Amino acid sequence: MAAAESDRDPPSALCSEFLNFSAKDTASRWLSAANLQQEVYRHLAVYVPRILCLGPSGGSSSREDHREEQREEQREELACQLLLLAPLEWLLLGEEPAAGLAQLQENNQPSPLCGHVFKVGEPTYSCRECAADPTCVLCMQCFLGSVHKEHRYRMTTSGGGGFCDCGDAEAWKKGPYCQKHTPTDNNRDTEEDPVAQLPADMVARGYSIFSIILKYAVDLLTWEQEDQLPAGLEPLERGDTYYCMLFNDEVHTYEQVIYTLQKAVNCSQKEAVSFATTVDRDGRKSVRYGDFQFCEQAKSVIVRNTSRQSKPLRVQVMHSSVVAHQCFALKALSWLGQIIQYSDGLRRILCQVGLQKGPEGENSSLVDQLMLNDSKMWKGARNIYHQLLMNSLLMDLKYKKIFAIQFAKNYRRLQTDFMEDDHERVVSVTSLSVQLFTVPTMARMLMVEENLMTTIIRTFVDHLRHRDLQGRFQFDRYTAQQAFKFGRVQSLIGDLKYVLISRPSEWSDQLRLKFLEGLDAFLELLKCMQGMDPVVRQVGQHIEMEPEWEAAFTLQMKLTHIISMIQEWCSADEHVLIEAYRKCLSALSHCHSGLPDGEQPISLSLAGHCVETFRYQVSQDKVSIHLPVCRLLAGLHVLLSRTEVASRFPEQLPLGELSPPILIELPLRCLVLCAQVHAGMWRRNGFSLINQIYYYHNVKCRVEMFDKDIIMLQAGASMMDPNHFLMIVLSRFELFHIFSSADVRKRYREANKDVVQQNNTLIEEMLHLIIMVVGERYVAGVGQVEPFDEVRREIIHQLSIRPMAHSELVKALPENGNKETGLERVIDSVASFKKPGVTGRGLYELRPEWNKYFNLYFHHYSRADQSKAEEAQRKLRRQNGEDTALPPPPPPPLCPLFGSLVNLLQCDVLLAVEGAVLQWAVEPSGGGWTESMLQRVLHLVGMALLEEKQQLESSSGDEDVTYNYTCKITRPGEAPSTSGSVLALLESLQNAPHLEVHKDMITWILKMVANIKTMRERTSSTSIITTSPGQGPEETVRDKDKAERKRKAEMARLRREKIMAQMSEMQKHFINENKELFQQSLEELEASTSAAAENSPPSLVPTCLSQVCVGPRRVGGAERRQLVTCILCQEEQEVRGHGRAMVLAAFVQRSTVLSKNRHRNLPDPERHDPLFMHPDLSLGIHTASCGHIMHATCWQRYFEAVQLKEQRRQQRLRGHTSYDVENGEFLCPLCECLSNTVIPLLPHTVSPDHSVHQPSLDTWLKTTNQQIAALHSAHRKQSDGAAEGAESTVPEGFRVDVTPQNPFSSSISEMITTFSMSTYKVGLKVNPNEQDHRVPVLSWSTCAYTIQSIERLLMDEEKPLFGSLPCRQNDCLSSLTRFSSACWTAAPLKTVHTHFIRLFAALVPDSQVENTPCILDIDMFHLLVYTVLSYSSVHSLDQSGQSVVDSAHLHLLHLVTVAHLVQILLTSTTEEVCMDQDSGGSEEEELTCRLYNTLRKHLGSVLPEVSSGWQLWHCVKAGVLPFLRAAALFFHYLNSTAPHADLLVAGPGQWEALCSYLSLPSNLLQLHQSQYTLLEPLIYRWCCHPGVRQTLHGGRVIVRFPRESNRLIELPEDYSVLINQASSFTCPRSGGDKSRAPTLCLVCGSMLCSQSYCCQTEVDGEDVGACTAHTFTCGAGLGLFLRVRESQVLFVAGKTKGCFYPPPYLDDYGETDQGLKRGNPLHLCLERYKKIERLWRQHGVAEVIGHAQEANQTLVAIDWQHL
Ligand SMILES: [Zn+2]
Ligand SMILES: [Zn+2]
Ligand SMILES: [Zn+2]
Ligand SMILES: [Zn+2]
Ligand SMILES: [Zn+2]
Ligand SMILES: [Zn+2]
Ligand SMILES: [Zn+2]
Repeated sequence: MAAAESDRDPPSALCSEFLNFSAKDTASRWLSAANLQQEVYRHLAVYVPRILCLGPSGGSSSREDHREEQREEQREELACQLLLLAPLEWLLLGEEPAAGLAQLQENNQPSPLCGHVFKVGEPTYSCRECAADPTCVLCMQCFLGSVHKEHRYRMTTSGGGGFCDCGDAEAWKKGPYCQKHTPTDNNRDTEEDPVAQLPADMVARGYSIFSIILKYAVDLLTWEQEDQLPAGLEPLERGDTYYCMLFNDEVHTYEQVIYTLQKAVNCSQKEAVSFATTVDRDGRKSVRYGDFQFCEQAKSVIVRNTSRQSKPLRVQVMHSSVVAHQCFALKALSWLGQIIQYSDGLRRILCQVGLQKGPEGENSSLVDQLMLNDSKMWKGARNIYHQLLMNSLLMDLKYKKIFAIQFAKNYRRLQTDFMEDDHERVVSVTSLSVQLFTVPTMARMLMVEENLMTTIIRTFVDHLRHRDLQGRFQFDRYTAQQAFKFGRVQSLIGDLKYVLISRPSEWSDQLRLKFLEGLDAFLELLKCMQGMDPVVRQVGQHIEMEPEWEAAFTLQMKLTHIISMIQEWCSADEHVLIEAYRKCLSALSHCHSGLPDGEQPISLSLAGHCVETFRYQVSQDKVSIHLPVCRLLAGLHVLLSRTEVASRFPEQLPLGELSPPILIELPLRCLVLCAQVHAGMWRRNGFSLINQIYYYHNVKCRVEMFDKDIIMLQAGASMMDPNHFLMIVLSRFELFHIFSSADVRKRYREANKDVVQQNNTLIEEMLHLIIMVVGERYVAGVGQVEPFDEVRREIIHQLSIRPMAHSELVKALPENGNKETGLERVIDSVASFKKPGVTGRGLYELRPEWNKYFNLYFHHYSRADQSKAEEAQRKLRRQNGEDTALPPPPPPPLCPLFGSLVNLLQCDVLLAVEGAVLQWAVEPSGGGWTESMLQRVLHLVGMALLEEKQQLESSSGDEDVTYNYTCKITRPGEAPSTSGSVLALLESLQNAPHLEVHKDMITWILKMVANIKTMRERTSSTSIITTSPGQGPEETVRDKDKAERKRKAEMARLRREKIMAQMSEMQKHFINENKELFQQSLEELEASTSAAAENSPPSLVPTCLSQVCVGPRRVGGAERRQLVTCILCQEEQEVRGHGRAMVLAAFVQRSTVLSKNRHRNLPDPERHDPLFMHPDLSLGIHTASCGHIMHATCWQRYFEAVQLKEQRRQQRLRGHTSYDVENGEFLCPLCECLSNTVIPLLPHTVSPDHSVHQPSLDTWLKTTNQQIAALHSAHRKQSDGAAEGAESTVPEGFRVDVTPQNPFSSSISEMITTFSMSTYKVGLKVNPNEQDHRVPVLSWSTCAYTIQSIERLLMDEEKPLFGSLPCRQNDCLSSLTRFSSACWTAAPLKTVHTHFIRLFAALVPDSQVENTPCILDIDMFHLLVYTVLSYSSVHSLDQSGQSVVDSAHLHLLHLVTVAHLVQILLTSTTEEVCMDQDSGGSEEEELTCRLYNTLRKHLGSVLPEVSSGWQLWHCVKAGVLPFLRAAALFFHYLNSTAPHADLLVAGPGQWEALCSYLSLPSNLLQLHQSQYTLLEPLIYRWCCHPGVRQTLHGGRVIVRFPRESNRLIELPEDYSVLINQASSFTCPRSGGDKSRAPTLCLVCGSMLCSQSYCCQTEVDGEDVGACTAHTFTCGAGLGLFLRVRESQVLFVAGKTKGCFYPPPYLDDYGETDQGLKRGNPLHLCLERYKKIERLWRQHGVAEVIGHAQEANQTLVAIDWQHL
């Protein structure tokens, strides 16, 4: 291979250049040169290739390489600065650069713009009250210093790019300046030219140097030749050195690139990952360096490998000097950006240089060149010059304008380039539009001068090329490629939105002109949409392929805000509105002219009225949902009404040209289509139609779709004879004949069932439509309401369904262009807020006074909403003891333009329809009738009555109220309904038994009729009658009401009883059938209680006697039979040592919850010696159980079945289950709790033998020492053969050669081994090995650790030590302790003896034992548990029959306690000697002082002098308490002793009770005092251990007592603080890059770079993400994290398990915001955080993960280890 090894200059050569180089001299030489540019270029030509890009770089795999690379980079950086940039600075400033720049800055008077450019992930703030639009944002610093912090604001994380708008007066309606950027008086006038502030010669030099450098940079960045350089830059000597440069694209995936690189340039996977990361970040990266041939070869491999499915990856082989100059060009641009920060004058000079037209005229400025070549540049280059544009042109208000004009001029071309480009929009220059177009004055200016609105729309239309024959958009069969482009085109809509977002308050003629021109273009666009995606009803066969519909709806959705904004603009100017209306109308007639139908007029007549229309049937002809032109016209029509233009300038309006039947035609068809789909007539058209109908009504689209169609019908109806309108509606619903001819009706009622049902639904839908057309008046302009009322009505109806959370309400309301719904303005007036608890969210509840505004036929209800709301409202009314009628609410008055709508309610056709439906209801035997129909008719009648009543009330009396519905309904029906009057029909229906549900409503109607009659009489008899004759009928109605209700209540009661009887009958039947099942579940219930009952009550009977739990005086466990039931076979079983083994499902896990030292490495599994637990408790083993008991054999069978199932499953599909069977995991068969082993149940220990003599400490110590000596010699004998040592005196009856009998049956022994193996395996992370001597230690360890952790929990939650534990924990501890006392029986005896000897030596030093740790390195509780438990094995050799186990336990307790006291005194920090409380000087204090002084005597000055005994005693007491409590728990479970009464309650008296329960003196120091002579030598030897001195001298971490409980880290109250912290966090691996998913460890507070290739590490031969890797060091495999950008808590366990958990941050509405989508300010909810903390401290996280994964299978599939 011909890799050019290293032909670069040795660094030393360059170094000598450094020394001889003078920037100052160079600058002055340049200055005197005739042609400055030539001189500078010559310099660059020499130095640039010598400094930059020398040979291979990047792709470093090892750390060594990485460091070398960094050093290389620093060298380059330094050389650039000294050799290239410094002369430029000298030249510009004419003096020492540092001094010169400082001077510039000092003289500079900066503009008040903040201009802070956002990093990715940085928090941005927008004020919802004051921001001109949602793109106006503040940086955190400005926000905190602004007035908006007290307003309603929204917080988001920046996607990078964009800057802080602080100081931009146009961006804010109020408070544009923060404290820092408030302009002061000495700020210069904005009009003044900042260049004038600079010395003239500097200005001149600035112009020339800036233009040379900027031109150089532009030339090189847009340079396309790979081998040549621009004139003047050719290198002196050309080596054959090339780079193979790889460019990024958005087509190939990371994996593809990595794979290809490995093949092409023969690098390791690690290097390839590093290359790919850089290519992705910077847009290009050299992947190979060498001669041309060598690079060419790599190129061809890459191209070949990536061209199979797509365009190949872009690769170029470039000469090294070209790369070097491009590299310097970027540095030069950054340099320019930095220099201009010092002076606004220089900034302006740069702006001028950049925008100056070149000799080529139009578009020839340097900035133009950059923009126009944008899509050709690589990402890194784009980013740097965009940044420069933001720092220069966008920060200078004058040049921002000029730039904006250039940008607008080039707009079409830039967009086209962007469309062809495949980079994301953020790295395209087109994304700068947001900075330019959102400034309202700028947008206006561009609109007027550059016709921007039209340009954008035209560009947009040009890029949508899919049309049908009529020129309409057609997105059928469009490919993924097109879809991608379509996605890109949509950014144009965004630009249009920016332009329109702020409505002008003042119009110039020019603006009017250009806006209307833009509107023309927009109407062209809408015309292309009008009638898109037409559908025809499919009969016979189902459609073969679902037609494409999403593209059209995406377009509609994106345009929704634009359409609304255009209407808003129109509403702001009368002239514009009138013109727009005209244009829209003519566009509509243009659309209609293209309709093929309308040729065959037909004539309809009904109820004495006659109308002409044409033949058209939705069910047979083409129909489209897309009618944007009609809908815009509808919107403008409402505006005519709202702005009163219609009444003020009727002559200017083309109202005469309106043909109402034409106006309503298309919207009506669309609504009929919906009705027919509902009626099931379009089933064969598939899901695409269903989806379209769904979106048509959906909140995202409805404002400019469904709502506008209703308005159009309202507009049309208000201009027509109501009878004609209704006849056309009937005809389009294809129902006309049913109502016009009795014959047809009859036939229809006898037709086949499907048709009847179809028609029934259609009738219902039609009636609903009429209700909406007359009743929907909450649009300003239709009814006399304000926008406020509209929103309020929406909310009332949402809350009528059920109480809702804030976010649910927001989702149900349409957002405007500013992402506002107006919800906040009204919510408090209609609803009350209920705060959330620890789970769930806050809810709004409708206040009762608003219930009367409920409208069952609210137009935005879906059918499901409607029935839910109906049910809720009826229930509510029943609860309040009201009748259940849901009459229409009083409607607001209509605006004059829509005033005649009310006549619909009393027109003849409607009365005929009502009559017909009521008639059917009277004789319900036929099929053609439904209750819903009747309900709608009753609603219509109610509406008509309300209307009449309101008119009567508002009329002053003299004028006649023309509206006379009550009169009309008394008239008998006309042909064809030959029945009685509507009123008569209603009266006859009132008592119809089959209409029970509607009775209240009919009653309400009749009451209304009576009321209105009275009112009319009253007005007609002109106020003579004041004696209110109206009371008569009203009274009787009320009485009747009462009687009626009583009757109904009785009926309801009877019905209920009947149902109950039925149900119990059914139940009985069911139980009979499923007898076994019930039996089982009942027993389960008993079983789970029995386990609890057996344990708790006897032991918890508070006994006031001085109960003692340890030592010879202890009160023994109950020697009663212990019966338990197996949850699997339901058999009862007694727990006996020789019986069948019973086991408890359990979960064993490693834990660092109690750790006081998270820096300690995890132990080496093979060599770790766990016999002594360090007091830092850095790693423990925790056992938990759900408390469910099984036979060992039943469990084994169950587990085998689980294993088998898993094997079969794995054969079928890959992936994991929520539990890991291979690791012994299973779910408890009863409660599905995650478990990985079982604990055997063992019988209680027997009561102490009071007959034997209990030895004193002295005697016992002596005996034990003798026993140990005997064991020593026996062990020696075994190992050394027969080397007979000095035989010490063996105590009487002690036989080392005896093998004690195993007290357990084989099945129990087997289970003891099973559990021992589990703790061993989990605790050490090793494979099972029964012979390992560490096995029993780990069993004891989990017992001690679990007790300790539970003691901590009880302490911190201030619960009493006994009696407050839940059953399952109680059962778990009890069986765990009894198990550990027996586990030695499963281990080799010698092993356990050795353990005891070593443990004992820590207390009573033994010269034959080596490596005993010092007492500061031992956790005393663990020592106590281990010695007590291992002692049994020694004692088992005692054949003397003297059972002295109990006194041994007590002596051990005493010894360990004293050791602990010494430990506490040695480590207590008593420096802060506070108030001397020496007054009393109690015995305790005195003795403590004495002990302390003894220690000082042994250790000397290491211990500080302490004068206050009170303080020492205080320390000791607090320090020893957790130990005593844990010891009490231990002996309680070991010996089954009932606790002391005082320990069942929290509070005072604890200390004494505890001491007496443990058989200790309450003055603990007496332990020491009473055995002074015995203990003194021991204490002396403890202190002499070299480890003690070492530790106290500060050599190691000192653990102090009591150990403080661990808590999760403290979180800030305000979430944005966290976001800010995370945004400045950089990935620790990839040199200062921003991390994409910063994640916070809640346990230790580390910030991690999660979910990213850069921070993967290898754990056990597998690459894992930063979070998983961290869990192994911080949490022994378990982790709790907060994903900061997502606002999500993450739980991880091991490599395969994890789940997300709601974060402890809530917004003001009591809701979390997972994914930070809503942006409401978030605050810490302490209770929720406590809950998470408790979960962690209770070791419940793994279980939560298990349950979450069990509930949601998709969680199982996530690769948690990559997070
Ligand atoms: Zn700012
Ligand atoms: Zn500011
Ligand atoms: Zn504000
Ligand atoms: Zn069983
Ligand atoms: Zn269970
Ligand atoms: Zn951590
Ligand atoms: Zn990283």
